[in-house]
Amino acid sequence: MADVTEAQILDALQSVQDPFAKRSVVSCDMISGIAVKNGMVQFSIEIDPAKAGDYETVRRKAEDAVAAIPGVLSSTAVLTAESKGKAKGGTQGAGPKGGAAAGSQNPQGAGAGSGTSGAKKGGAAGIKHIVAVASGKGGVGKSTTAVNLALGLKALGLKIGMLDADVYGPSQPRMLGVSGRPESPDGKILKPMENYGIKAMSMGFLVSEDQPVVWRGPMVMGALQQMLADVDWGDLDILIVDMPPGTGDAQLTISQNTPLSGAVIVSTPQDIALLDARKGLNMFRKVDVPVLGIIENMSMYVCPNCGHEAHVFGHGGAKREAEKLGTPFLGEIPLDILIRETSDGGRPVVVSEPDGPHAKAYLAIAEQVRDSVLGGARQAPKISME
Ligand code: ADP
Repeated sequence: MADVTEAQILDALQSVQDPFAKRSVVSCDMISGIAVKNGMVQFSIEIDPAKAGDYETVRRKAEDAVAAIPGVLSSTAVLTAESKGKAKGGTQGAGPKGGAAAGSQNPQGAGAGSGTSGAKKGGAAGIKHIVAVASGKGGVGKSTTAVNLALGLKALGLKIGMLDADVYGPSQPRMLGVSGRPESPDGKILKPMENYGIKAMSMGFLVSEDQPVVWRGPMVMGALQQMLADVDWGDLDILIVDMPPGTGDAQLTISQNTPLSGAVIVSTPQDIALLDARKGLNMFRKVDVPVLGIIENMSMYVCPNCGHEAHVFGHGGAKREAEKLGTPFLGEIPLDILIRETSDGGRPVVVSEPDGPHAKAYLAIAEQVRDSVLGGARQAPKISME
């Protein structure tokens, strides 16, 4: 079945009114960034960020209007700060100030996306760079890699935060050895939790582990925006985002709406063969987020008794694949019970065995990530879906 067209989407959005202008959001020229792929629709509603609180209902109505078009499988609308110089009657003039609503955008972009992207995308003011750690599928060691990478970057003297966006299975509270609930002295802004010098925020702190949460794409984005904008991150050189596994709707929306300086893809040797890593790479490329490189996890098996290394799935495949894909190969991490026990026990190997070979491998990866992120500014991201 052919995908819905932009004209159909705009037609459906004619029924959604701007509450201030009392005209449709389409005639107020507030709709931008329409992207459609395989029945999944995403678009932005450009508003005055000071009025974000007043537009949450509009956002939901717009999503519902588009979701009702035959052939649309999912509809995700995000509120973004209006483009400079675009005067829209609907968002001008006095009005009650709204806080950052779920799904809304903080007008201050992280430093990485200087220029237009910073103004359009969410992010807390003191965060210089945001780096996503992603994987084509679950269980490849994405969270383990994210935490050890964060600790490696911290060991290099950088101010680091960890945003656990893996709302489906948040593991950073366990891996960082932090429990309890974040405080909110003013009832609006949450103080991040902290351990090993890493500031951390996770749905795992807010929702108990045995409480199943059914997340729809827009909810994931809303929760993430809040964890980004409504958390007192302070000054950070790099905020690591532990992404939800996979390359679906939620991941694409996050990549599109978060001012990412770059992304790191974690993959196992089997994964690389099965092209899961390639899917992750293509997703980031689509939204113009630079892929900083691929990390091969569980690369070889290390025998805990004799230290013998067995390359169960062959050797060098990831490196060759990275070369073929034109992306850096950041390094390989062996499958070692010590890595599992330490990260699952809340004492990741970079802090519990800082002089060991695994910590050194993570540090070498952290150095490359630091160099490519802090080494230069990135271009403003643009959305293109084929
Ligand atoms: P993901 O975030 O991709 O779902 P996790 O990081 O939660 O994966 O890892 C899944 C399991 O594999 C965890 O128990 C973790 O400790 C273990 N693990 C991850 N990487 C390694 C490794 N290199 N060696 C041994 N165990 C690992």
